[in-house]
Amino acid sequence: MTKKQVQEKTETNAKETPTEKPIVKAVEETKTEAPKIEAPKEERDNVPISKPDNKGRPQQGRRDRNARAVFDKEAWKPKTSLGLKVKDGEITDIDYILDNGYRILEPEIVDVLLKKSETDLLLIGQSKGKFGGGQRRVFRQTQKKTMEGNKPKFATLAVIGNHDGYFGVGFGKAKETVPAREKAFRKSKLNIRKISRGCGSWECNCGNPHSIPFKIHGKCGSVELTLMPAPIGTGLCVEKECAKILALAGIKDVWSRTKGKTKTKLNLIKACIEALDSLIKTRLTSAQKKEMCVVEGKITVQAQDEAEFIDSMDVEDSEKLKQPEESKQSEKKSEK
Ligand SMILES: [Zn+2]
Repeated sequence: MTKKQVQEKTETNAKETPTEKPIVKAVEETKTEAPKIEAPKEERDNVPISKPDNKGRPQQGRRDRNARAVFDKEAWKPKTSLGLKVKDGEITDIDYILDNGYRILEPEIVDVLLKKSETDLLLIGQSKGKFGGGQRRVFRQTQKKTMEGNKPKFATLAVIGNHDGYFGVGFGKAKETVPAREKAFRKSKLNIRKISRGCGSWECNCGNPHSIPFKIHGKCGSVELTLMPAPIGTGLCVEKECAKILALAGIKDVWSRTKGKTKTKLNLIKACIEALDSLIKTRLTSAQKKEMCVVEGKITVQAQDEAEFIDSMDVEDSEKLKQPEESKQSEKKSEK
């Protein structure tokens, strides 16, 4: 009997695998046009991995995360009219949704439109108990005293961004950690917003939107955060959790100044979001925009071309600089 059961199991596995294959293929075809030789290898790799998944527990979490990373557009059934438009390919740019003020009610819309997006969890809580505690954690644990006893709740903040002008922050709270995280990711996708970038530093006249165009300010509770444009190569001189948001939003160089109880991370992050929102809310004249190289949302192809052009100019200049040096050296040699 046992052998038969094993055989049946193998058969079921064999039956399951062909059903999985077309999905994997569809995803590969849509997302990456990989050469045909590589595709079957990946499939072979995937199939044996999925088997121990069902039996071995410790691997499950890791595999699940990988599975979540691959979003299947075909399996998604949109419920809102906006979602239908996105799935049909009517809307291909997230700017259309954000500029017209439509409300995103399905996180899948962002999955489809915001390619190369990354997610991260912010450290808003701290460990408690023995050995001092106080170490920063992803989940903020709070408790309510009731007749039955303590009822803990877990809260977390998730960030999503594509490193190119778009980011979203979502707060999730639940009785357990996993649903809290799910909520946070979902809300971060619904709260997607865009920023404008530029180069407002007087020390740097590069013309690339690597920093922010002007000084911005945000406040929440006692916490006040000021972000200032910095020259290229400075990096993100901000508190770490804010730096995570800024990096995901696509800002590379910034200086900062804070005031108040910045250890209250929730307030600090809210101040950061408020400050970033003022980037797009501030109205600038076209002359000012040109002066500070303001780019709203993603960097367009033209801007990229300009950047490449500048890079190429730099390279040419450096080559020109090198050449005379060489000629000088050769002259010196001839003199000797
Ligand atoms: Zn610059």
